[in-house]
Amino acid sequence: MHNILIINAGSSSIKYQLIEMEGKTVPAKGLVERIGIEGSRLKYKSDSGKIIIEKPIPTHDEAIKLVLETLVDSEMGVIKSMDEIKAVGHRVLHGGDKFTGSVLVDDSVLAAIEENAPLAPLHNMAQKKGIEACMKIMPNTPMVVVFDTAFHQTMPPKAYLYGIPYEDYEEFKIRRYGFHGTSHRYVSLRTAKLLGKKPEECRVIVCHLGNGSSVSAVDHGKCVDTSMGLTPLEGVIMGTRCGSIDPAIVGKLMEWKGMNSQEIDEYLNKKCGVLGISGFSSDFRDLGDAAEQGNKRAQLALEAFSYSVKKYIGSYAAVMNGVDAIAFTGGIGENDEIVRRMVMTGMEYLGIDFDFALSDKPQRGIELELTKPGSTTRVFIVPTNEELAIATDTYELTT
Ligand code: ADP
Repeated sequence: MHNILIINAGSSSIKYQLIEMEGKTVPAKGLVERIGIEGSRLKYKSDSGKIIIEKPIPTHDEAIKLVLETLVDSEMGVIKSMDEIKAVGHRVLHGGDKFTGSVLVDDSVLAAIEENAPLAPLHNMAQKKGIEACMKIMPNTPMVVVFDTAFHQTMPPKAYLYGIPYEDYEEFKIRRYGFHGTSHRYVSLRTAKLLGKKPEECRVIVCHLGNGSSVSAVDHGKCVDTSMGLTPLEGVIMGTRCGSIDPAIVGKLMEWKGMNSQEIDEYLNKKCGVLGISGFSSDFRDLGDAAEQGNKRAQLALEAFSYSVKKYIGSYAAVMNGVDAIAFTGGIGENDEIVRRMVMTGMEYLGIDFDFALSDKPQRGIELELTKPGSTTRVFIVPTNEELAIATDTYELTT
């Protein structure tokens, strides 16, 4: 049994998963919510069922302690002692331009996570706290950090530079970094496998469509462009984030609505996207249902979202001089047939012979080709598995 614990910490939550690497099984997983806020609780799921522990969890230290106590608990636990956890893999949002892959944690890595915190203030510091909490409780267990940005570090300067004074790029590190890298890497590798090719032999566009959405161009195994930027706000229209907008809108909104920079940040991240367009939900199931019942703004939100995804596919096909496969992943990419239909309509020019009937009624949760035999460019659903990708990196760096 080679158990690896995966920790994905946010400012007030920690998602965790214990993965057994030999059988690639998940003996237990769950979530700690509302850390440091009233109503904190731990959710835990294993083969023996689900439990919720409601109690004050004031800090990330306490949260990690509770997760480990639950995992080794004599009744509901799945391991006998913490020694059975061979390593811990931590997801960290922003690695800046320092990290091109996953790394073993040491003092310099912790310092670099803090150094990059201005680029992702909420995430990086919370994730550092999660690592430090684990190090305190499990001082002899190796820790690995897997950065959301690492896979995109192969982008050439022409793709990651913005049209701003070069000095500001140098001084403030303002450039495109891209996110969801673990998912883009995992899904592009799986897609190459589905094509029966090596990653170095194909051009893949990955559409990771979830609450946050991003599209990437993976050219012969390397990411050459991606839609998210300095932060995860840029790119396609998202659940509550605006995606790419004319930057002048920011100043105008501040002027017209009297917003300060914090308020504008909150507005662009939480009030926009399909929630803003529809006026009632960021959940694509709600939007689909409402559109079906004739709600025009829900329909418009779905159309605007899909149109923005479609534009990225077109531009990334241009960037790579063609595309061999397009992969849909994430909660929306894997499950939302309305969006897939909208994105894939009128894509014959790319050599795509899309099987709309199959896409409308897929079997959920499996890798599936959505193009008909003979289609020059092929389209797949590839369920993402970021936790397994993190566990695999952690395993490779610690064995
Ligand atoms: P996150 O970015 O938080 O990981 P997910 O990848 O889980 O998000 O995606 C969440 C989104 O997926 C939500 O907008 C949700 O509405 C959508 N989604 C999940 N299941 C379905 C479904 N069966 N049909 C349509 N949309 C779905």
